[in-house]
Order: sequence, then structure tokens, then C-alpha cells
Amino acid sequence: MAATQVHKRLFVGLLLFALLVLSGGAFVLWTLIFGRAGTALRDVLLAGEIGFLLLVAVGAAGLAAMVAAVLLRRPLRNWQRVVHMAVELLFPLAVGLGRLLSIDRERIQSSFIEMNNFLVRLIGRRVEPPRILVLLPHCLQRSKCRHNLTNRVQNCRRCGACVMTDLLNLADQYGAQVVVASGGTGARREVLERRPAAVVAVACERDLSSGIQDTGRLPVLGVTNLRPHGPCRDTTVDLNQVRDALETFVRGRQVVH
Ligand code: SF4
Repeated sequence: MAATQVHKRLFVGLLLFALLVLSGGAFVLWTLIFGRAGTALRDVLLAGEIGFLLLVAVGAAGLAAMVAAVLLRRPLRNWQRVVHMAVELLFPLAVGLGRLLSIDRERIQSSFIEMNNFLVRLIGRRVEPPRILVLLPHCLQRSKCRHNLTNRVQNCRRCGACVMTDLLNLADQYGAQVVVASGGTGARREVLERRPAAVVAVACERDLSSGIQDTGRLPVLGVTNLRPHGPCRDTTVDLNQVRDALETFVRGRQVVH
């Protein structure tokens, strides 16, 4: 079984677990409403029950659409919005439940990124290279380098001392835009200002998973950085994965793993 399949299953499994927990909450409320609750309390419980049922309905529809896309290998298209809402609703609960089961948060986030990439690749949207934004974290830059890339990526001298040289050369080769963001807020601002049609984002699991959720329907392919010196310092990235993500958008082919 491919590792990526295992990855996606973890995310789907935890979303399903979260959905079951919500359904259990709805059931408990239901029994209270039709139990011995007084009239005033019953109205409050009824409002809560309607809220729970709405959450369960959206979560179930989104999860079913996601599983159907994986099994049939068909793009979501009209169901994208529902899936996005389901993920927004269930993901925090899924992470909490994962922690109860001693599943590492990073593993869950990585599984979500895997699922996102799979769904984006299924759609196989073709994007003109200048409308692709390669979004890089500043921790890829050598910590001893004195050039400020977050203001202007062209400040990099491409000296070869860190992976920035290869990344900038790669982006030039494809004609894509590149930006180095100083953090999650900076990355969101760049996306809002530049309005790209697609994003290839490099970051840690935490920043990637929150960033992907924030960008809504904008297709984002996430590439997790490598951290041989620990988090947020002198990180690097597998260039083949970045190239593969760029190829996916430039060629619009359906590369699904
Ligand atoms: S390639 Fe050289 S100039 Fe560019 S960020 Fe890395 S160390 Fe600095």
C-alpha cells in the first residue's frame, strides 16, 4: 500500500471519527429534548440540536464527496465548497481526537496536506506560469545570510550557499512568481495582493495546513520543508517535489499519487 494512501486514510478516518462524535452529541441532545427537560430548557436544547444536525449534515456531505473523489478518481468541481466547509468544521475536532488517540498533530496535518494535493491534482487545472505563485518561508534562507529576501526576493545573490539559489532558478525556468514570506500573515497578504491563479507553497505542516484552509477555492499544492537543524532555521526542501507541483499546474495534467 502506498504511503500516500495511508496518509489520506488517516485524515479521512479522523474526520469520520469527528463526525461520529458530533452525531453522538446530536443524539444525546435529542434524548434530553424528549426526556424530562422543562419547556424553557427544551427550546434551548432544540436550538442546539438544529445546530448539531446542520454540522452533521454538512460534515457528512463533505466527507462523502471527498471519499467519492478518492475512490472514483474524479475531481470534486461543484462539491469543492461543501468539502471546504466540512474540513473547516471537522478538522479542529479531528486534530483534538487524534491527540486523544496519541496521534502526532504533524502526522494529521501532513495527511490533510496529502489529501489536499490529491484533490488539486485531480482537478488538473492548467495555469499560465506568470499566474503561479511560489510561496517560500524565510527559514529556507541561510540563517547567516545578510540579504533581506522578504522585501525583495531579487536581493538573493544566488551564491549557492542555500536552497534559495535552486528555487529561484527553478521558478525562472518556469516563469513563475516567487515570494519569500516572513510568516503565515505575510504569506496571506502576498496571496491577497498578487491574486495568483495557483500557489505552490513550501512550509512546515502547521503553516501549510492552516494556509491551505485559509485560501478557500484557490488551488494550492503544499510541499513540506525538511528541517535538518530543527524548526524555523536553515530548512531545505526536496526540489523534485517543487518541480512536480509546478509541472502539475503548467501542464494541467492529472498527476495523482
Ligand atoms: S543563496 Fe546565498 S544570497 Fe541567496 S539567500 Fe541563500 S545564502 Fe543568501
